Amino acid sequence: MTQDAQNPAETNAPARRPLSHGMKSLIALLVLGTVSVGMGLFAAGPTGSHGPGTASAATAPPPLAVTLLTAPDLSAPATPATYVSGTLKQKETLTGLVTRLGAPANEAAAALQTLYDKELIDPRRLLPGLEADAVLDDGHLRALTVKAEPGRNLFISHDTNGDWIAAALNARLTEGYRRVAGPIDTSIYETALKLGAGDQQVVDFASVFAYDIDFQREIHPGDSFEMVYQVYTDETGTPVKAGDLVYAGLNGQALTRGFYRFTPPDDGETDYFDENGESATKFLMKTPINGARISSPFGQRKHPISGYTRLHKGTDFAAPTGTPVYAAGNGTVEWAARRGGYGNYIIIRHANGYKTAYGHLSRYAKGLRKGKRVRQGEIIGYVGSTGASTGPHLHYEVYIKGAPVNAMKLKLPTGRKLAESSDVMPAFLATRNEIDGIRAHKGAGVLTVSLSGNPPSP
Ligand SMILES: [Zn+2]
Repeated sequence: MTQDAQNPAETNAPARRPLSHGMKSLIALLVLGTVSVGMGLFAAGPTGSHGPGTASAATAPPPLAVTLLTAPDLSAPATPATYVSGTLKQKETLTGLVTRLGAPANEAAAALQTLYDKELIDPRRLLPGLEADAVLDDGHLRALTVKAEPGRNLFISHDTNGDWIAAALNARLTEGYRRVAGPIDTSIYETALKLGAGDQQVVDFASVFAYDIDFQREIHPGDSFEMVYQVYTDETGTPVKAGDLVYAGLNGQALTRGFYRFTPPDDGETDYFDENGESATKFLMKTPINGARISSPFGQRKHPISGYTRLHKGTDFAAPTGTPVYAAGNGTVEWAARRGGYGNYIIIRHANGYKTAYGHLSRYAKGLRKGKRVRQGEIIGYVGSTGASTGPHLHYEVYIKGAPVNAMKLKLPTGRKLAESSDVMPAFLATRNEIDGIRAHKGAGVLTVSLSGNPPSP
């Protein structure tokens, strides 16, 4: 009882679920298998001294003890200083942590205020596990180190007047690339994490393929994946953080495709492009809802009351009331109001004569109204059963120049094709070849390579 009243037929045809809406969909990746691995770590750049974040230090920072003990107020300590380390607990403030290490609360607060005043760290964005080292002397806080993020330490000490001063020092990090690849038996996610990739790299990987593959239903034993992503290592060669995913590849029964990260110099919009320069991003998402099943497909249906056969102009997705509904593509809201049997109904006008429409909604997203511009993947409303509906579901329609089409069979217009830009294509091909060079270097080893099309973040 989850389709339009006039369209009672149901099927169990699978609904595709774009993965671009967050970690929820990544659960799908968890059921895939363990992976055998080929990976290599490559240092990049002749100097290899790109420090992410703020300006990198030209030389390695002096050890903390040297910095602190050469400070004038520490030149003749009455008692030996003690060093205490601790990590931030869940829901603990930084002041709370430093106080827990033994510093008086007022001194901890004053010292840390210098970090906030200089905007060296955002107190609202601290994560549990953050490490701090305090230097205590005779019950007083003398100095403090906060390990803000891998490779970036914040130092607080006294100046000659006894005022707190703070400085950020970045470790000298070397940029390189790591390749992670292998057959999928149970989980891309688990394996990638085990190999040192972060959540972000896996999320990016899933997002790149969200328009092309259903990770829940279209990954089969024997399929394989490949990722290449940036890594930063410290002076000892230890990887301290991972950066952008520069290559995402899938070799499977359902799909074999690879995408390269590239920022076209003309529009500056970073995206992933296949080997021919076609964007992974599609004009419209395949389905505007996650976790739903198709309860009634597009096509001719017998009307339950009149008995006449008529066209079901959309696709019905059964889902609980309140399930978010996303804008299938960028566009402008043309209608957001009740409309007869459709109940609460939204029409979005897209480029090139395309429109998408969404019926039976329980409510609209806050602020959504006629004339508003929406972006692909933005929540526009919530599943309901308003209008001529016998149960909560989304009735989704796609129109091309006024004619209804089957959204599930739609040959989706792609995003940008770089081949159409003769001034951009050579730069893309150069980047592609550089990334392919990294991919070809499967064993462990060092390769000096700099991705000219993908300069590291300043
Ligand atoms: Zn319908």
